[in-house]
Amino acid sequence: MITSITISAPAKVNLTLDIKGKRPDGYHELETVMHQINLLDIITIEKQETGIEVVTSSELVIDDETNLAYRAAALILEKYNCQAGVKINIQKNIPVGAGLAGGSTDAAAVLKGIRQLFDLPVDDRTLHEIGLALGSDVPFCLQGGTALATGRGEILSMLPDSLVLTMVIVKPPYQVSTAEVYKAFRLEQVKRFPDTNAFIESWCNCDMIGMCDHMENVFESVTEEQYAEIKTIKNQLVQLGAIKSIMSGSGPSVLAIFDQLAPAARAFEIIKKTCQETYIVSSYLKEGVL
Ligand code: ATP
Repeated sequence: MITSITISAPAKVNLTLDIKGKRPDGYHELETVMHQINLLDIITIEKQETGIEVVTSSELVIDDETNLAYRAAALILEKYNCQAGVKINIQKNIPVGAGLAGGSTDAAAVLKGIRQLFDLPVDDRTLHEIGLALGSDVPFCLQGGTALATGRGEILSMLPDSLVLTMVIVKPPYQVSTAEVYKAFRLEQVKRFPDTNAFIESWCNCDMIGMCDHMENVFESVTEEQYAEIKTIKNQLVQLGAIKSIMSGSGPSVLAIFDQLAPAARAFEIIKKTCQETYIVSSYLKEGVL
């Protein structure tokens, strides 16, 4: 019988992000291509007699019952009447409040980890439902890879693993609240929309240049207004050889696509001198893929 399990929790970026309107239930109708990258939190879950305990390596993340990893554990243990408890250790490598789904991926990893650790009879569909109760990005984090997400972000159409991308991610030194960005979003202020269908066609044809041509994020109209530095970082990355640079999710992280490793490594070295939370990453390949 296993008593502990260690799993990787990959961050995501949004390669396109569009808002198609507001729904009667108050949520926005989203259309976004999400893509996992190999920037990973490492989660260890240990069985214990009772109670849930969370320990994280980051001062920016609270260890109490508001932590999404804690909430994920509480939800699944209660639903399956588990009397035992867990101790969850999170080695936090994904920047917090960054638009990279750090909390959501931790929650997804905890759901999967507890299912395996306690051998719970939970099918993927039920896990998806539990995940959605925790946050709109959790279903994608459970599924992984690359997907078109619509609805609140929970209706997922898998896309093939066509391209392995090399990226530089830059997280400016402040956090952005996703809820605040949704609240401030005004469709009439958006200057550039992604062409999601054209993006997907290019993606499926392994056409990196075509794909980059159609990458846009409508939330830039909110977050760039507030933080002019985001535009400066995007321009700097393009000057350093990126084919395309856009903000991820609600920001403030910026992602840049490079077609070669050498200019990406050079951009990483240069930007890291002024922006500490800079990363060079590639697409996250699930086990058995490629
Ligand atoms: P998304 O891209 O899904 O909108 P994000 O990357 O912008 O999310 P997170 O890093 O998930 O943002 O953090 C959002 C908030 O969630 C922060 O205020 C943080 O304190 C809280 N939080 C709760 N649990 C966690 C966790 N396990 N890891 C990171 N943040 C967490």
